[in-house]
Amino acid sequence: SHAETGWNFDNSYSRLPDAFFAQVEPVPVPHPETITLNRQLAEQLGLNAEKLDTLEGAATFAGNYMPLGAEPIAQAYAGHQFGNFTMLGDGRAVLLGEQITPDGTRVDIQLKGSGRTPFSRGGDGRAALGPMLREHIISEAMHALNIPTSRSLAVVTTGEGVQREIEFPGAILTRVASSHLRFGTFQYAAKWGGYDNLKALADYAIERHDPDIAGDANTYLSLLNRVIERQAETIAKWQLTGFIHGVMNTDNMTISGETIDYGPCAFMNTYDPATVFSSIDVQGRYAYGNQPYITGWNIARFAETLIPLIDDDQEKAVEMAQAEMATFSKLYKQQWLTGMRAKLGLFNEETEDEALIEELLTAMEKQQADYTNTFRALTKGTFRDICSKALHDWHEKWQARLGRQDQPAEEAARLMQKANPAVIPRNHQVEEALEAAVSKGDFTVMEKLLDALSDPYDYTKDYGKYIEPPESEKNYQTYCGT
Ligand code: AMP
Ligand code: MG
Ligand code: MG
Repeated sequence: SHAETGWNFDNSYSRLPDAFFAQVEPVPVPHPETITLNRQLAEQLGLNAEKLDTLEGAATFAGNYMPLGAEPIAQAYAGHQFGNFTMLGDGRAVLLGEQITPDGTRVDIQLKGSGRTPFSRGGDGRAALGPMLREHIISEAMHALNIPTSRSLAVVTTGEGVQREIEFPGAILTRVASSHLRFGTFQYAAKWGGYDNLKALADYAIERHDPDIAGDANTYLSLLNRVIERQAETIAKWQLTGFIHGVMNTDNMTISGETIDYGPCAFMNTYDPATVFSSIDVQGRYAYGNQPYITGWNIARFAETLIPLIDDDQEKAVEMAQAEMATFSKLYKQQWLTGMRAKLGLFNEETEDEALIEELLTAMEKQQADYTNTFRALTKGTFRDICSKALHDWHEKWQARLGRQDQPAEEAARLMQKANPAVIPRNHQVEEALEAAVSKGDFTVMEKLLDALSDPYDYTKDYGKYIEPPESEKNYQTYCGT
C-alpha cells in the first residue's frame, strides 16, 4: 500500500495551464519484471526498497499499477534538433508526479518507454532493453562522478518485443530528476503559449529551482543567469571528464543543469576534440570539443524565449539578455580552468597555467593518449614512466609549478584524486554488459560494471580490466615512443 511503499506524490506541474501537458495513462504491458532496482536511491527518496522489490513494484515501474497520488501526464515541449526547430513532447514517457522526499526535496518520477502519447508522432512509445540499461549505467556513473544528472530508480522488462532494426525485449526506465523543465519547454511556450502561459512557466521554474530570486529587480533575467551558471558548471564537468552527450538538442537541455536523455552518449577514450560517438551526428555538431560552443548556442535559444518577460521595451530586453548571455563563455572558462587546475593538483593561480594545460592537451592529442588514464597516471605519479620523451620537458615544468605553491605534494595528490576519476564507463565495456543482458539474459556483467563505477575517485581499489581502453584505441606504442 501507499503508506508502506512510501510514495508521497504532489503534482505541481499539472497545475500549470492545460497547454503544457496531456493527461495520459501508461499503456499496460503483459509481463513486468524488475531487472534492476536502485535500492540506495529508493531509500533516499523515502521509498521502501523491500516493498518495491515485489510484483507490485514491478507493476508500478511498468505503468500497470498507479500508486496513490500519481496523476500521469505527458509534457509538451519543442526544441531545436540538430539546429531545426520542431514541436516535440513526451512521445514515450509519462510523469507520474513529483515525489516529496523525507527532507522535503521535490523530484520528478518519470516512466520512459511507457507507451504512446499524444506527442508520439510516428513512434511506438516504447523503449528497448539495451538503451534503457545504457541510461541506467551511464546516469548512475555520472552521479558517482559528481556530475549533475537525472538518476535511474529502476529498469523493468515488459514481456513484449519492440521492433527496431530487429526485435528487442521491451523495457521501461524510471527516471528521477529535479525537474524535466527543458529549454524546449520554454521554446514551446514562447512559440505557441502566449504571454500568460510563458509567464506561468517562468514563474513555476523560479518557484521550483530558484525561489531565492523571486524578489530580484528583474527575476527573469536572474533566471537566465541561474540557468547559465548551472549549464556552465555541468558542461565544464563534461569536458573535464571526457563525457560526450551526443544529442545536445535544446529539448534535451534542462533548466536545472542536470544532464538528461542518455542516448548515443559515451566517454572519450583517446583524447581528441573531434570525437563523436553518435552515428546520426554526421556533421560532428555535438563532437566533444564543440560541446561548450553548442551550450552557448542553446542558451541563446533559451534566452530568446525570455525576451517578452524581461522588459516591456523589447529592444531593451534583447540588450539585457545579450549582456547576460555573454557571461556564459567567461563562466564556463572559469569553471573549466578551476577544474583543470585541480586535475593538475594546483591550488593557487598563475597566468601561465592555461598555457601549461594547453601544452599537455596538445601533446596528448598528438600522441593519441588516453584521456582518463593520462590524468590517472599524473595522479599516481607514474606519468613520467609511461609518457614519451617529448613530454619530459612538460613534466619538469609541471613539477616546478607544483613547487610554486604552499601545499605539499601529498595535498596536491589528494586534490588530484578528487578531480581525476580512476575509472570511467568505457563504451566497449558498457556494450559488453548490454550484450550479455539483452542476448543472454545475463545481468551479472552489468552488475560488476556498476560496482566498478560506483566510487570512481577511490584510488585504493584495483579496477582491473575496467581501466583499459578498447583494443582499437590502445596506443601504448605511440604513447611510450619518442
Ligand atoms: P530524443 O532524441 O530521445 O531526445 O527524443 C526526441 C523526441 O522523440 C522526444 O519527443 C521523444 O519523446 C520522441 N521519441 C523518441 N523515441 C520515441 C518512440 N519510440 N516513440 C515515440 N516517441 C519517441
Ligand atoms: Mg529527449
Ligand atoms: Mg532520448
